[in-house]
Amino acid sequence: MVFTVAIDGPAAAGKGTISRAVAAHFGFAHLDTGLIYRATGRRVLDGDTPEQAARALKPADLEADGLRTPEVAQAASRVAAIPEVRAALVEFQRDFARREGGAVLDGRDIGTVICPNAEVKLFVTASDEVRADRRYRELVEGGHDVTPDGVLADLRARDARDSGREAAPMTAAADALLLDTSDMSIDAAVEAAVAAVAARLAQG
Ligand code: C5P
Repeated sequence: MVFTVAIDGPAAAGKGTISRAVAAHFGFAHLDTGLIYRATGRRVLDGDTPEQAARALKPADLEADGLRTPEVAQAASRVAAIPEVRAALVEFQRDFARREGGAVLDGRDIGTVICPNAEVKLFVTASDEVRADRRYRELVEGGHDVTPDGVLADLRARDARDSGREAAPMTAAADALLLDTSDMSIDAAVEAAVAAVAARLAQG
């Protein structure tokens, strides 16, 4: 069975947690497409040009340590605005999406550009403050030296770049189900996402 779940939204809205839970629930494969841009950004910080970095990317690069730092997140968002970089990464994502057995992809442009025909599309969001607070806690837990104001500013800068760029800007697909997780427990958000997928699977 080929079945794609596209989950988009800004940083720290909860799409990673929801994606992993949906994939585990239905036995689908999961691809965090942010890691593709982070791994490309990492290579650029190490001296590659953005296009070289995107073309040379290997699946094993997504497993590298150190992709979750604020520095790499900003580098990812900068390379992600370059059309040639995005073009070099499309095929890998589409192949993943149409693999046998079902796939969940989370990112910024999955429902709009990568998989416009995905069987289920969700757009997960939350207020800036709630997202910054979540990301701040994650980073502190990971041993990073950050401040709440710094994390909020970084997140807003990244959101502005991601939604303002010309190439595949972050936006909800017209047919996406919107999930605002600002006042929602993670369990409730996962339940809503699982219900949306189950309803579509039941249609056959
Ligand atoms: O999701 P994550 O925060 O790991 O993504 C890092 C950056 O990669 C985003 O800020 C965005 O610029 C870029 N990205 C993208 N398209 C995707 C996934 C991520 O442009 N599908």
